[in-house]
Amino acid sequence: MHEADRSPPTEQYMITKEYFHIDGQWVAPQGKGAIDVFSPTNGALLARVPRGSVADAEAAVAAARKAFDAWAATPPARRAELLKKIQEGLKTRTDEIARAITLEMGMPYKLSQRIQVGSPTATFGMYARLLGDFAFEEQVGNSKVLREPVGVVVAITPWNYPLHQIAAKVAAALAAGCTVVLKPSEVAPLNAFALAEIIHEAGVPAGVFNLVTGFGPEIGEALVTHAEVDMVSFTGSTAAGKRISQLAANTVKRVALELGGKSAGIVLDDADFAVAVKGVVGNCYLNAGQTCTAQTRLLVPASRYDEAARIAAATAAEYRLGDPMEPGTTIGPLASKMQQDRVRDYISKGIAEGCELLAGGASLPEGLPAGGYYVAPTVFGRVDPRATIAQEEIFGPVLSIISYTDEDDAVRIANDSIYGLSGGVWSATDARAESVARRLRTGQVEINGGPFNIYAPFGGYKQSGNGRELGKYGLEDFLEFKAMQFKPPPKAA
Ligand code: NAD
Repeated sequence: MHEADRSPPTEQYMITKEYFHIDGQWVAPQGKGAIDVFSPTNGALLARVPRGSVADAEAAVAAARKAFDAWAATPPARRAELLKKIQEGLKTRTDEIARAITLEMGMPYKLSQRIQVGSPTATFGMYARLLGDFAFEEQVGNSKVLREPVGVVVAITPWNYPLHQIAAKVAAALAAGCTVVLKPSEVAPLNAFALAEIIHEAGVPAGVFNLVTGFGPEIGEALVTHAEVDMVSFTGSTAAGKRISQLAANTVKRVALELGGKSAGIVLDDADFAVAVKGVVGNCYLNAGQTCTAQTRLLVPASRYDEAARIAAATAAEYRLGDPMEPGTTIGPLASKMQQDRVRDYISKGIAEGCELLAGGASLPEGLPAGGYYVAPTVFGRVDPRATIAQEEIFGPVLSIISYTDEDDAVRIANDSIYGLSGGVWSATDARAESVARRLRTGQVEINGGPFNIYAPFGGYKQSGNGRELGKYGLEDFLEFKAMQFKPPPKAA
């Protein structure tokens, strides 16, 4: 990368987006005003995107509705071809989109290339492949059972893995034969404009994919309450998910929710602590802790607490906090000022509630760019499982170490949460880890650090949401059932 490319744009060459993508065209918004996007690296104004209104929501939904019948009737093989083209478009623009995501939300650039762009690229490819052998029809006795697209889908997404979360919805919905209105996060919207360009260039028919931007309570709620929308697929905070469910109930829409988490990483007494504790710390700090599946509670046997605490604190100290465009940086700033304030408040609360600060905290290393939204990788030890920092989702680089007496106690503590999104279990054998994993009330569990799999169902139990994304399970979320009963042939005499 060219040296000059490392710094965020200054106001002189700020990125400005002035159009929505509706009905196959780049159109001027009907709403007035714009939303400022700030650089997490230094707090400078980075970009400006339109602040969509109710009228913009109406236009986007009308376009999606108009396009639905033809898209639903398009053969899956043709839909797959278009998804493949989108995959190729993303691949070609990897570096540029990774840079935009790093600038808008702060993940280190190398990780952005691999995760923030690599994962959505793979997701579009996966759905192209899955369409090759997905059974849209089956015979059940005298019934023919069809899987049909649910209709017009509104996708509302957050900023932490912005394009990944968009792809999990948009690729699956388009594969299913649904048409889509996307409203991405106002904190990190630039990647969505790049995707809209790619979808446009791929030749996806007009109205099949539409992009609008704006605030949740404004254009977001106009979309959620719209009578012509059949489904809302939402990823974000539990509070917004509850509000969306309530609003959508008036028109009996299908609602799929991917919400928060407070996942536990359980290290069993026979695990290799050097590997396991390090693994949980790494999982917690990925994306500066702004990961809904982050294992933010490290559960260790009381008898080996000291050893675990030492390894966790030493691992935290190895992270290099800094400008996410600098090659040596391993942990970047948080995405917004609001997020930084929130996380700092939780750190103060942890201290106030008597948790032991083992690493990080309020102080920051020297030499960070001024004005950025940095928080030091933080470890709290001897955390009570009922402490605020052990119960609430912090969404920052804050790990709580909790000790347990035996396996039953570990499972009890892990399940003592309103959330149930993910978790991890570490042991000398996969079999023992699996026996504990089976007792966790969560949608995913990593066994001995097993990697993320986009073909596996992703989603939560309890207040982490409902529905599943990714793989064939994600496709099924966007399908209705239709059963046609035929008269059985007369029995031979
Ligand atoms: P958020 O809920 O504030 O916003 C998410 C999206 O919802 C944004 O596009 C926002 O504009 C929109 N929105 C907000 N209020 C709305 C309303 N009333 N009506 C319609 N739309 C509305 O969340 P965030 O701050 O962007 O993201 C962080 C949260 O998301 C964390 O709590 C995190 O755990 C959760 N998250 C969950 C997953 C998952 O898959 N389970 C993934 C990523 C993030």
